[in-house]
Amino acid sequence: MNKGRQQTILIVDDEPANIKILGENLKSRYKILIATSGSKAIEISGSSNPPDLILLDIVMPEMNGYEVCRRLKTDDKTRKIPIIFLTAMASEKDETSGLELGAVDYIIKPFSLPITKARVKTQLELKYHRDLLENLSTIDGLTGIPNRRSFDERITQEWKRAVRESDILSLIMMDIDYFKPYNDQYGHIEGDDCIKMVSQSLSSIPMRPADFVSRYGGEEFSCILPTTDYNGAVFLAEKMRRAIEELNIPHMASRIADKVTISLGVSTISPVNDQPHLILVDSADKCLYQAKESGRNRVMSINLTNSGG
Ligand code: GH3
Ligand code: MG
Ligand code: MG
Repeated sequence: MNKGRQQTILIVDDEPANIKILGENLKSRYKILIATSGSKAIEISGSSNPPDLILLDIVMPEMNGYEVCRRLKTDDKTRKIPIIFLTAMASEKDETSGLELGAVDYIIKPFSLPITKARVKTQLELKYHRDLLENLSTIDGLTGIPNRRSFDERITQEWKRAVRESDILSLIMMDIDYFKPYNDQYGHIEGDDCIKMVSQSLSSIPMRPADFVSRYGGEEFSCILPTTDYNGAVFLAEKMRRAIEELNIPHMASRIADKVTISLGVSTISPVNDQPHLILVDSADKCLYQAKESGRNRVMSINLTNSGG
């Protein structure tokens, strides 16, 4: 997504000789991955380093290209990867089928190398701009961590998943203490720097890959903790509270410390379908409010699961 990242093309063909000439011609510009079967292509596409474009053969043993395309398009993780069919299947019907399955282009073998390269280039430029837009709309400009919009999306997803899997879900809501006086004392630019430092620290606290820290609002942050029980969430919240304290950012205008601190509210729930996920946000928010009321720089929590009171 950043300008320096080299884009990756996955070439899928059961006949390596077919791929060789293409790979040779694209490798100076792009990173090339090869798969000689549909199942391998699906595995690579679903990995943590998915390709930016897939060049997909149709006639392959075991699983044909149409089926590979269909599967990639029905999985949320892979459905946005553009696919170009590269195939000897030359009828109008074949081409229509390929495009109707969601492929962005259809190239018939034997292919012209310069035309294929040009079409690949066009699709990768489009992909680059799509990634850039997605990044701009989901990442907070000041801090570089996910924004409120990402939070809303993620909490909805995690809520649904927890309902489906009868799992628990925890949420931490956080707010910097006496931040208005901080701005008044040090100025808005220093205030921005403080928000950046706090967000970096919160996001760097070691957690599981599914844990999700975002900037919820001005000086407010949140952390979604899937499959995390009440004790685990409270433990992590306390760790975050301490981490901010230990940043030792001077705050002469704070009424409770000589440094920047945060207050935290934690809620854990076993979601059921007919509740809105807002109950989790509301309850964590109430705890945050209690943390403020009872002196700030502390964690308040509530366990809404069946097992705890
Ligand atoms: P409390 O301890 O109760 O949370 O007090 P507070 O002063 O932090 O609470 P309040 O919500 O009144 O103030 C939040 C302040 O955060 C007000 C606003 O100017 C500031 N703020 C919000 N977003 C930003 C930002 O992006 N940059 C800077 N510098 N300040 C911000
Ligand atoms: Mg606030
Ligand atoms: Mg505040």
